[in-house]
Amino acid sequence: MAEGSGFVEHAVDGDVHVLRIANPPVNTLRTEVRAGLLDGLRAAQKAGARAVVLIGSGRGFSAGAEMTEFGKPRQPPSLPDVFDAIEASDAPVVAAIHGNALGGGLELALACHARVASPGGQLGLPEVKRGFVPGAGGTQRLPRLIGLEALRMIVSGEPVTAEEAQRLGFVDAVLQGELEKAAVAWARDAAASGRRFALARDRTDKIQGQGMAAFDAAAQKLLARSRGQESPKGCVEAVRAAFTLPFEEGLKRERDLFQTLVSGEQSKALRHVFFGEREAQRVPGVPADTKPLPVQRLVVIGGGTMGGGIAMSAANFGLPVTMVETSAEALGKGLNRCRANWQRTVDSGRLKPEEMERRSALLKGSTDFDAAVREADLVVEAVFEDMAVKKEIFGRLDKVARPGAVLASNTSTLDIDEIASATSRPELVCGMHFFSPANVMRLLEIVRGAKTSAQTLATAMDVGKRIGKLNVVVGNCDGFVGNRMTGKRGPQVEKLLLEGALPQDIDRVMEAYGMAMGPLATGDLAGLDIGAAVRKARGTVAPIADAIVAKGRFGQKTGAGYYRYDENRKRQPDPEVEKIILDVAEKMQVRRRKIEDSEILERLLLPMVNEGARILEEGIAARPVDIDVVFVNGFGWPAWRGGPMFWADSLGLEQVRDKLAHYAEATGDPNLRPAPLIERLAAEGGSFATMKAPAQAA
Ligand code: NAD
Repeated sequence: MAEGSGFVEHAVDGDVHVLRIANPPVNTLRTEVRAGLLDGLRAAQKAGARAVVLIGSGRGFSAGAEMTEFGKPRQPPSLPDVFDAIEASDAPVVAAIHGNALGGGLELALACHARVASPGGQLGLPEVKRGFVPGAGGTQRLPRLIGLEALRMIVSGEPVTAEEAQRLGFVDAVLQGELEKAAVAWARDAAASGRRFALARDRTDKIQGQGMAAFDAAAQKLLARSRGQESPKGCVEAVRAAFTLPFEEGLKRERDLFQTLVSGEQSKALRHVFFGEREAQRVPGVPADTKPLPVQRLVVIGGGTMGGGIAMSAANFGLPVTMVETSAEALGKGLNRCRANWQRTVDSGRLKPEEMERRSALLKGSTDFDAAVREADLVVEAVFEDMAVKKEIFGRLDKVARPGAVLASNTSTLDIDEIASATSRPELVCGMHFFSPANVMRLLEIVRGAKTSAQTLATAMDVGKRIGKLNVVVGNCDGFVGNRMTGKRGPQVEKLLLEGALPQDIDRVMEAYGMAMGPLATGDLAGLDIGAAVRKARGTVAPIADAIVAKGRFGQKTGAGYYRYDENRKRQPDPEVEKIILDVAEKMQVRRRKIEDSEILERLLLPMVNEGARILEEGIAARPVDIDVVFVNGFGWPAWRGGPMFWADSLGLEQVRDKLAHYAEATGDPNLRPAPLIERLAAEGGSFATMKAPAQAA
């Protein structure tokens, strides 16, 4: 027998009732599901069920609350209403988990009398990553089941597998075979055995006698990485309540923290990025049903910094890859760098030796360009940044690669259309712009050339996804989205140094804002000689940067750049740099003054926002949120700040326009004149969030 609301199916298997959540694709706990669960529990109770099994249909148990219901008037019943009914049930309610049990989904399972699970899966409370705390008792029940380990799970938001959950103590049994059948049998046996189930809320054994010193030490360690973000601190406070307050009071504390955080700016920013990352996968001109070409072997041309990282990314995710180099020596170096990198991870205990073996076996090397390329379904070229070299390589790729193979370039600045013109298959050419280190950074800008086909883009996106990257499709221009925007920050860095700031002032302001690393420390890490070479090629100057490079200060690799570095590569402000800066300012007759932190922040962020607006006008990015996703995933922008365009919106575009106009005037930098899009939106009282996306060429 099966009936129910449509969102919860109710089946009866002898004396055990089964409530099956059926809200595809991921069984979020929308209003109808909560109502269906409540009805089902009442009906099972009325029918005298011996036990009730809660299970998810489809891919998993439940991915949690329906986030689109946030911020709207709440419809009853609430999750706590459902949990009250579970906890009041005479018959034990057993959650049967397969796949994901996340957020509210796991909280539902924690309110049950017992939990069983299929092997694997992901069980966790990721709310912290959306800027709030679990809001339906998760922070009170999980510690009562597993003690201090709950703090780590809740503050990090990282899920665990069913096996790990069993080891920690919040899954009672991992069951093999078909889960519903096995769970019904398990519940029936358990009920028949007269086993007494202790509800999480009634347990005290894991939280009593817990010295709070251990709690504080664990909390401090966990919070060390979260800096300005509020939700990890909120999680610590909520879990602390589990250890120090009675259950009901703890729930109230959790609820208060949830309400405060969920309505705050940080949570709004984190949800903006979360939904933005999904939105970015919908690409104008690439219908959702576009079939990617099958890619079974990737060939990477060049085994340098980027080629090595790209090859590692592929092998890390099980995609066979060949690295091509010009000589046996260069190839050996490239392959060794990959192996040494994996070995370091093994040595640190974060990678199993057999996993390293598996990855190494997927990575081959070759100095026979033609033979290697013939086997490729996708080629990513990562040789020197030189148009003549790239065109020569693409001409050769076109001759050797099988028809239908996709040819991509990792160029940071060069024109994809010109590169494609060296081939007879421009529709199969695109950019795949990885970020350094390519095996670590999640961002992948996929560059659409004038002739790139939808299928080529879909193929690059499919491979990007398979190797753990976050794709953003961008248009063809110098620097694409990320580098083009940060490029507009550079002149302001120079001017600020000249007018009165020191490197440590600029980096302090940006790091206090939440950036992983300030722009000058980042320059030192990347190598100041790279920027100098670009300026030389373009015939531009940056008096202070040039003076620093002229002293042989190339950054970390020479032990000195904008800072001095000790043997542990720890940076120190350097009086010599201050002297260089003062000398240049004097020579240029600039009177230095004290510059406020707010001015530093605005002069670094506003030029990026302004260029972002131009990027939108030109259709280089399809949506403002695509730009934010680029910065969060590729440039160390804290997700809880939402990205540059989100920042501009929270400032208000009228303010953005006025401040840009002011700084354009004050600094004589024409780049700071407000972009027409900002002028228009500000005049209309609009924002980036609500603007209509410009039509994008297919
Ligand atoms: P790199 O100098 O470290 O490596 C280039 C490698 O290509 C060298 O090992 C060289 O031997 C090899 N090579 C040259 N010609 C070749 C050929 N005909 N066949 C096979 N191999 C050949 O340079 P990199 O930093 O890895 O940059 C590579 C590309 O990636 C450039 O286009 C660059 O703009 C782009 N990129 C670099 C970064 C970065 O941070 N380094 C980031 C994104 C994109």
